[in-house]
Amino acid sequence: MQNRIFSTVARRLTLSYTLLFGVLSLGAFLLVYVHIVHNLNQQTDDRLRATIRELIKTRAEGGRAGLQEEFTIESSATGKERIFFRLLDPDGKAVIASDLTSWKTEEHFPVSFPISGEQITRLHISGHEYPTRMITSLLKDGFFLQAGVADDKDEVLESYRETFFTVFLLILVLGGVGAHLIARRAMGGVREVTEAAARIASGDLDQPISRGNRGEEIETLAAMFNRMQQRISDLIDELKGVVNNVAHDLRRPITRMRGVAETTLTRDGDLSDYRDMAVTVIEESDRLVGLVNTILELAEIDAGLKVMGMEQVDLSWIVNMAVELYQPAAEDREISLTAQIRHQPLLISGNRNSLQRLLANLLDNALKFTPTGGRITITLTSEGKHAILSVVDNGPGIPAQDRELIFDRFYRGDASRSISGNGLGLALVQSIAKQHNGSVTVNSDGTTGSCFIVRILC
Ligand code: ADP
Repeated sequence: MQNRIFSTVARRLTLSYTLLFGVLSLGAFLLVYVHIVHNLNQQTDDRLRATIRELIKTRAEGGRAGLQEEFTIESSATGKERIFFRLLDPDGKAVIASDLTSWKTEEHFPVSFPISGEQITRLHISGHEYPTRMITSLLKDGFFLQAGVADDKDEVLESYRETFFTVFLLILVLGGVGAHLIARRAMGGVREVTEAAARIASGDLDQPISRGNRGEEIETLAAMFNRMQQRISDLIDELKGVVNNVAHDLRRPITRMRGVAETTLTRDGDLSDYRDMAVTVIEESDRLVGLVNTILELAEIDAGLKVMGMEQVDLSWIVNMAVELYQPAAEDREISLTAQIRHQPLLISGNRNSLQRLLANLLDNALKFTPTGGRITITLTSEGKHAILSVVDNGPGIPAQDRELIFDRFYRGDASRSISGNGLGLALVQSIAKQHNGSVTVNSDGTTGSCFIVRILC
């Protein structure tokens, strides 16, 4: 039950603030209270001391008779029931005293006597409304002079306590209400973020949270939340695009396979027709497997799974291997494929397979787009802490409007529609470069070839 009532931060803040107000005002009250008690006692004691000093003078000048007369005058002036005086011999027996009728008999004063100086005593005399504060002063001749007064400060303190209690209740109520309003306002931004989260959960990604003027923390939270919302929205759009593209790219080869199979079956073909059909099915299946593998590879890199396979890799070796592998295909099309490597070896920390895949994709494109008799050059250098790998061809180049888009998934330039491909090669190159804390850029004037430059942190 307790936990449910204080389950919200606003309620907990309200309770904490209210308790804080309560404890602080109680502390302030106690401090003032102690101060008042001390001051009132001090005042009473000072008054009694001053009177005792007067009486000592009177005794020295006028003897006992003079002192008795002064007792009477002083006690009548102040009120016989409020103040009394006594002169006691060294044995503590009263020699003379003011009118003590209203103070009952002297036996009612249980008193110990000071060995030197003075002693302050607080007495409770039965039948008296107020306690009595009394100073007993040791005189030079061993006698004691006593002055006592009804200590009515309790009345003042009582009214102070009552006032405080009322103020305390008021502070608690007003403090509680104030704390509740402050806590509600402070948590208002969080509420709005929560509502936005609920909206997102129900599929609405279009309404950003207003940042308002709710303090830096809430404003930052709202800004971060809006960024997250935008990112989710972008990802969903991207996902929709990917799903569309994948569906489209899958449908084409499947439709082709079905068409070829149907045609072969519906006509009386010979063995070579069936062979052609099998070749087409194998080609299209390879395309499908290639597409699915690339999609999976991109997903793995995006999920950070491939980072696990990092090792010391020699980029020079990767370039040499790639040249060796692609040389026959280049020769078939009379394309000159050369490598210029400045550092032997050039070591970086990376994933060997991914880096081979990166270069293979760049070379695939270069071979695809470079006309027969063309030229492809791979250069490997280093610049500061970066290894620079560039693949230059003298193909048709990339038009300015395409240069920003070619790294997007499934993007294919208009001129390449007739050439095989799925638009994922450069997206994969970019993901692998990023995975290696690097980047890929393209230079091309749009007519005389392309230059892809990959920068990777050594
Ligand atoms: P794909 O090659 O399968 O179309 P990519 O992602 O590898 O997909 O390339 C995207 C687009 O970039 C290509 O369709 C083409 O328009 C352009 N492109 C890539 N490499 C070259 C190149 N070397 N020369 C000219 N255009 C290129």
